[in-house]
Amino acid sequence: TKGNILVTGGAGYIGSHACKALRDAGYTPVTFDNLSTGWQDAVKFGPLAEGDLLDRARLDEVFAEYKPQAVMHFAALSLVGEAMSNPGLYWRNNVAGSLNLIEAAVDAGCLDFVFSSTCATYGDQDNVVLDESSPQMPLNSYGKSKRAIEDMLTDFGASHGLRHVVFRYFNVAGADPDAEVGEYHRPETHLIPLMLDAIDGKRAALTVFGTDYDTPDGTCIRDYVHVCDLVDAHVLGLRWLEEDKESRIFNLGTGSGFSVFEVIAHSKAVTNREVPHEIGPRRGGDATKLVSGSTRAVQELGWTPMRSNLEAMIRDAWRWHQSGRYEK
Ligand code: UDP
Repeated sequence: TKGNILVTGGAGYIGSHACKALRDAGYTPVTFDNLSTGWQDAVKFGPLAEGDLLDRARLDEVFAEYKPQAVMHFAALSLVGEAMSNPGLYWRNNVAGSLNLIEAAVDAGCLDFVFSSTCATYGDQDNVVLDESSPQMPLNSYGKSKRAIEDMLTDFGASHGLRHVVFRYFNVAGADPDAEVGEYHRPETHLIPLMLDAIDGKRAALTVFGTDYDTPDGTCIRDYVHVCDLVDAHVLGLRWLEEDKESRIFNLGTGSGFSVFEVIAHSKAVTNREVPHEIGPRRGGDATKLVSGSTRAVQELGWTPMRSNLEAMIRDAWRWHQSGRYEK
């Protein structure tokens, strides 16, 4: 029988898609979210337990009420720029918040833990395709906070039997093809939604952050993964833990990267509209190129990223964008 899964950050972009995938797979996703960057309207597939990771008593209450069989931990601050100017926010919310969550889970006897980590833990390793054993040299407090939580999970595994599946995400994009949920950040800082806003005049031109990188067209290269493929991997990660397999780290990338200029060109093709853009300086903390192989996730988890081509991601993001959902 399939039980409750505690989904921290279930009101956010990736978490809300994960809740839909869990519901579709027969689980009940229980969203734990402080609604600081998430949206009540995004909680559609299971109950919402409002609360903050820094509130240990509230966490204990929620574990006691829902008795989840596993935790999927998405809740985090995730903006490189913000992390560069305010590292304390990242160490407190991400690291101290995750410590509370892990201790609450262990005390409740909930020992299966799926964690959202990031390619930002690798830092800038020019012109290599990354894999799970690539060295971790994060450039900013966001990446450092995620690396610290990975270490925490390892330590609690050794001492308390907590078992983890860690996913290191590359660039998540796209939206639910039914547009029930999608990407909506305020403020928005991500390339594709900013571009779609610029295309339909909701904001001024997109600024391309630097054209002097050591890449073929001078702009940064990223590995874009469709959010639905990404959350499918999480359901597989849950099964991995249900089957009592060992704790494991998986990169979620596709092996191919696209530059900012290439994303702009594809967006123009998909939407049939001009993408107003201008060239600006580099953004601090950005790596030149972040691309991952997907061998381990494909071979060991049986992950099949079906939708992670740039056209499909932009098309689904554009459909979601045009739905205007969450906009007050
Ligand atoms: N980017 C850009 N202009 C923007 C936002 C992003 O040129 O207004 C670039 C950014 O420098 C990076 C890529 O687009 O190379 C993806 O950035 P995003 O913030 O979407 O994700 P990140 O790679 O930081 O996780």
